[in-house]
Amino acid sequence: MAFVPVDIREALPYLNATLRGALYNPAVPALSWRKAGHFVVFQADRIAVSNVEDRQAAVDEVDGLVKLVNRAWERRNEIEPDFEARQRPAPMAAFKLLPGTNCRLCGQPTCFTFALKLIAGQQKPAECPPLLEPAYAGQLAELQAMLGDMPAFR
Ligand code: SF4
Repeated sequence: MAFVPVDIREALPYLNATLRGALYNPAVPALSWRKAGHFVVFQADRIAVSNVEDRQAAVDEVDGLVKLVNRAWERRNEIEPDFEARQRPAPMAAFKLLPGTNCRLCGQPTCFTFALKLIAGQQKPAECPPLLEPAYAGQLAELQAMLGDMPAFR
């Protein structure tokens, strides 16, 4: 985690508008985002990143994220800020859209385990082969909409 020298809360709605899959909570305020295996949280005075190898990797990662915030802020006149709060969907809601056969083709022991990993961003809907069959097209579309059409979840 790194503290930032200026308050970045006003930049968060611009990041929310531009970072696909971001989850914004204006009450904190905080914006969380999954980036290539890292879980990132932006708050008014800090940026936290998970799953970094070592201190230098963390420094480099935070440096890139600070640049990302700066770019969004510099382009704020071109960006429609998004103040909408988005929360992570409930696992049971995702589970109800899965085939429910526990066939294990996704590599998980049950559909519910797969749903938990979907919500955590560790699996994508397309990794459930039965869900790609035409009969489940509606559920697949609903699941993608529920997950916010996040690239990480496709
Ligand atoms: S592949 Fe799909 S239907 Fe089969 S266990 Fe995984 S989530 Fe369930």
